[in-house]
Amino acid sequence: MVVQTERDDGTWYECEGCGLMFDERKDARQHEQNCDSEDPSYIQ
Ligand SMILES: [Zn+2]
Repeated sequence: MVVQTERDDGTWYECEGCGLMFDERKDARQHEQNCDSEDPSYIQ
């Protein structure tokens, strides 16, 4: 899952699975689909 985070330097999108931060939502969503840390049951 991707969570939106507000910071002084703007809005970030964090992958809850592994903690990676992205400055664009589409990048975070794309990563999410390939993230190994996601719960496998979520995909099913
Ligand atoms: Zn991830």
